[in-house]
Amino acid sequence: MKIIYHEDYVNYAGYSFDPAASSGRITPIIKEIKEKTDYEIIKPEPASEEDILRAHTERHVKHIRSDKNLYYIASLAAGGAIKTAEIAYNNKEAAFGVIRPPGHHASADSCWGFCFFNNMSIALLKLMAENKIENAFILDFDLHTGDAF
Ligand SMILES: [Zn+2]
Repeated sequence: MKIIYHEDYVNYAGYSFDPAASSGRITPIIKEIKEKTDYEIIKPEPASEEDILRAHTERHVKHIRSDKNLYYIASLAAGGAIKTAEIAYNNKEAAFGVIRPPGHHASADSCWGFCFFNNMSIALLKLMAENKIENAFILDFDLHTGDAF
């Protein structure tokens, strides 16, 4: 199984000071994965603005871009979702993105809940734009529901 992860997801703590969004929350996950030999960790690249704009308005992207560091980590999270989806689609194998910041509270033109870009929507809309998929099933296992996109 491929695990999509970038160390900046942990090292960049500046987007929230709330313990609920602490960067250390994924540290034990990665520690456990690194001890297993049947996982390969893949490092993603930030999503392109073209990819992000499939899911968000220009106004929203401009708003996030006004904080250079926030834009970097939010686009890196979206890029992690894209990489995860591409590996799963192209290799027909299970892939899991260990990504932060999360995205299920990011709508086309707004966001809250420590989410900035809707990572899943960006990834799936990219696969749709490339005519690779027509639909997808999303299982959101957060303790509460995400926002409708
Ligand atoms: Zn949530």
